[in-house]
Amino acid sequence: MSFILHGVGVSDGIAIGHAHLAKPTALEAAHHLVPKNQIDREIARLNDAFAVVRKELETLQASAMDGPALAEFSAFLELHHMILDDPMLSEAASNCIAQTHCNAEWAITQQMDALLEQFEKIDDAYLRERKTDVIQVVERVLKALLGHPGYIPPPVKYAGDSILVAHDLSPADVMQYKQHHFNAFLTDLGSPTSHTAIVARSLNIPSVVALHHAHQVILENDYLIVDGSQNIVIVNPGKYVLSEYRLRKSQLELEKRKLKRLKSVVTMTLDGTPVELHANIELPHDVEQVKENGADGIGLFRSEFLFLNRDNLPDEDEQFEAYRSVAVNMRGLPVTIRTFDLGGDKNVKNITRVAANPALGLRAIRFCLAEPGLFHTQLRAILRASNFGKLRILIPMLSSVSEIEQTLHLIDEAKQSLRDEQITFDEDIPVGGMIEIPAAALRLDMFLRKLDFLSIGTNDLIQYTLAIDRVDDAVAHLYNPLHPAVLWLIARIIQSANRARVPVAICGEMAGDIQFTRLLLGLGLQQFSMYPAQLLTVKRQVLNSYLPDVIPLAHRIVKTENSEKISGLLMKLNN
Ligand code: PEP
Ligand code: MG
Repeated sequence: MSFILHGVGVSDGIAIGHAHLAKPTALEAAHHLVPKNQIDREIARLNDAFAVVRKELETLQASAMDGPALAEFSAFLELHHMILDDPMLSEAASNCIAQTHCNAEWAITQQMDALLEQFEKIDDAYLRERKTDVIQVVERVLKALLGHPGYIPPPVKYAGDSILVAHDLSPADVMQYKQHHFNAFLTDLGSPTSHTAIVARSLNIPSVVALHHAHQVILENDYLIVDGSQNIVIVNPGKYVLSEYRLRKSQLELEKRKLKRLKSVVTMTLDGTPVELHANIELPHDVEQVKENGADGIGLFRSEFLFLNRDNLPDEDEQFEAYRSVAVNMRGLPVTIRTFDLGGDKNVKNITRVAANPALGLRAIRFCLAEPGLFHTQLRAILRASNFGKLRILIPMLSSVSEIEQTLHLIDEAKQSLRDEQITFDEDIPVGGMIEIPAAALRLDMFLRKLDFLSIGTNDLIQYTLAIDRVDDAVAHLYNPLHPAVLWLIARIIQSANRARVPVAICGEMAGDIQFTRLLLGLGLQQFSMYPAQLLTVKRQVLNSYLPDVIPLAHRIVKTENSEKISGLLMKLNN
């Protein structure tokens, strides 16, 4: 049966292929029966997995760094040890295998469910909340089981043209699926500026989120058309629809190839105003895409992605190598490394904590200042890499002068430690701040005095100005870059920075959306940073814009209160 699902397209383009359903979580274990003569082997497999996790926890304990979080971290590890050794989990799972002949994965998840049920009945709220720890321990055991013989990975039937359908994906999940070369991503949850959507865009494959029941109604191997621009998914299309979409897909590919001709064209408006177009990246190998699209530099390297999907932390040398390789590959073009923005929706197991309101919690620079040891390691790595190219340091989520001062002090300390070891680095490495909290935008003067450059993080600036959780699809319709308060803040930041002659860029998703290109140019923006695949489309828009026409209309839009009028004026501006 053919039907259409509507969602929110977060990455343009058309993909056609077979559905592959992702398991909603790592905890969804398959059930199968183990032959009688292999029961002992299956129990041994489970015991081996427990031993692996025990060792992992011991290693984590041994490598725990000093600092205010140490006591908390140790208590946390101790608790995980206790859960691991609890007979309710380990012995009961072995008994389950022996009695019901089930596989180890199934046995451990069954015991987890039984334990969680007991936790539910506990009156004490603190103990009840320890459910998360039980889940985390079981996740570890399951992961260890994956590495032990006996596990057969689920087959992906149509490896070449698969479309991943998931209930939800974290940014880390998308990074992991990257290597499987999916044609498109579909999720039930999600919103356009979540980091999951951002990563999908950077992979340059169509993606539709907020489909609500896609994961339930789409079956494995269903044939799908994903249209990211029209926000739809067509399930099992008829042959006419299919041939129409095949034609549109090849037209789009042709258009993309034509755009490539703009790669080496100098970016300036019709009246001759130069504009810089930079790229956002997540990992060092994204530089290839950056170069393919002729970017003027990297305006945002989301360095925290180096920390995801792993059990240990990248040490100074590993980070140095990552930053150095990007600096070298960019051959002297500027590379802006954002110090890690962990917390929020990008978490590192056992390091960042799960908070009730993660976007308002210990995230980005707040986390770095709470963990100066980790921050020091990163700063040293960036500074060492500054010898190999033109690096800049960008600090996320600054909100006060004291945070700027503490950060600058820590940068000085990192510099001094290198001088002491006679390691050279760029002594004048520029340090900039992201303007993504309204407090920073409202008192920009403090930032202009202390920092070398600014980058407006519109994704968070909109989230915090409008009090809309950017990962919650239930309020995604209220997330509005054209809200008069947002436009007023953006206009004011650009104007103040230009007056103070402090370079200012936008590195949030607004920079890569061509419906905003002229508006932002008209407000005085001359530096944009976006996902690489969008760069040439934005360049074409810049090349076709005439500032004397654009400026008055852009300022009129900022002064307008009514959202329909704003949309009307924007349409006029873009015609
Ligand atoms: C932003 O907030 O606009 C931004 C660029 O940073 P991130 O999306 O990584 O939070
Ligand atoms: Mg941000």
